[in-house]
Amino acid sequence: MQGSRIFMVSLSIVSLFTALISDGIIVESSSYIKALFIYLLFSCLYHHLRIISRNGNTSIDYGINYSLSIGLFTGPLGLFIFEVIYRFSVYLYKKQTKTDDPDEFFHTFYNIGSFVMSNSIAFYLFNLLYPLFQDAAFGFWIIMLILITVTSMLSDIFLITVFKLTGDIKTKQEAIDFIKTRSVLDMGKIAFTNGLLLLFLNEGKWEMLISLFILNYLVSRSFLSKSQMLQNKIERDKFEQMAYTDFLTGVFNRAYMDKKMTELNQSAEHIAIVVADIDKFKRINDSYNHAVGDQAIRHFADSLKSYLSKDDYLFRSGGEEFTIIMRFRSYEECLNLAQKIRKGIENSTFHADFKDQSISLSYTASFGLFYYKVNKLLSIEKAYVYADQLLLQSKDMGKNRLSSREESIHQHSPKEAVLTNA
Ligand code: GH3
Ligand code: MG
Ligand code: MG
Repeated sequence: MQGSRIFMVSLSIVSLFTALISDGIIVESSSYIKALFIYLLFSCLYHHLRIISRNGNTSIDYGINYSLSIGLFTGPLGLFIFEVIYRFSVYLYKKQTKTDDPDEFFHTFYNIGSFVMSNSIAFYLFNLLYPLFQDAAFGFWIIMLILITVTSMLSDIFLITVFKLTGDIKTKQEAIDFIKTRSVLDMGKIAFTNGLLLLFLNEGKWEMLISLFILNYLVSRSFLSKSQMLQNKIERDKFEQMAYTDFLTGVFNRAYMDKKMTELNQSAEHIAIVVADIDKFKRINDSYNHAVGDQAIRHFADSLKSYLSKDDYLFRSGGEEFTIIMRFRSYEECLNLAQKIRKGIENSTFHADFKDQSISLSYTASFGLFYYKVNKLLSIEKAYVYADQLLLQSKDMGKNRLSSREESIHQHSPKEAVLTNA
């Protein structure tokens, strides 16, 4: 901790000397004041759009940075003044809003030192490279890309030094991994933004300068809110999925069944509601244990599912009771499918772990099937009660069987019509 603080303060002191021994502010003071004001305004405005990542006790900002262009325009001293005002404004803001890191004061020194040092080096490098590149095609932009590469490298070296001193980075591999987190796209974005800003500054195109800042702000802002919306939606979908899924079997639960039934009530589909229940399930639980019972339920769910198509619905409506909604089929097709499932269950065995050995078990199930065309007079909830009564009938008749009924709308509506007229 102590070592890293000494490093952070030293870096800022070195940057102060760099600023003092430079040629001073190299542009007219009126231009400098204007640029300083605009840069401070937009840097502060931009501040809350920064993406922050944590490394140990320290948070790192991955935001766009405007220091390069103001540094190249004014020289190290002008840059130093900008950084001091900007970084301390951020410091005060974070203190006020209580979002400051434990070592925020020293981080402020670090930020001043790091940005002034790397961008001052970029300033001297720019003056060195400009005569060489000025006649080349895209010469200016090549220099900007070189400068961003250099400042990024320097900034990584400074950060790694801090993390080495705080112990957040210990091995060479960790340092390399940290450098790899830098994105080439981000570097390109910073290079082109700062390049354009510098061109506008040099030509005194203040309106264009401000427009570019606004554009930058709007693009980042809309991108951020889009990605947050997307993130929220992903989380909402995940929660919804969890809320509607039965944990034991992975099929839909009762809550989802209620929701789907409400939705399907609005349709005019022909559907079969099938209620399926394992026979003498209590015996499995009692003869073995609850875990074996659970495996039977899971096997039952998987078996039922294997017979259904993607348009059908399968819900776990009770302990060992499942409800199927068969869709886009005739009554006969539903009946045949339910019989096929019943026989399939009867003839299959499943393996369960019991007392350190694998046991083989089989069971049967009973079914109740009610088929009808969804209409306003008979809700699916009511149809479900009929299917459940048919299941009870199967149980009463000796289990391992299917009871079914088809309700035609003609049989039903006249009765209801009388009621409506009454
Ligand atoms: P029937 O042939 O008439 O259907 O009788 P049954 O024994 O299958 O049904 P009953 O309704 O009498 O008992 C169901 C049992 O299922 C009671 C309950 O303890 C058990 N059960 C409910 N949920 C679970 C579960 O998630 N896991 C296990 N292992 N057992 C459960
Ligand atoms: Mg049962
Ligand atoms: Mg039951």
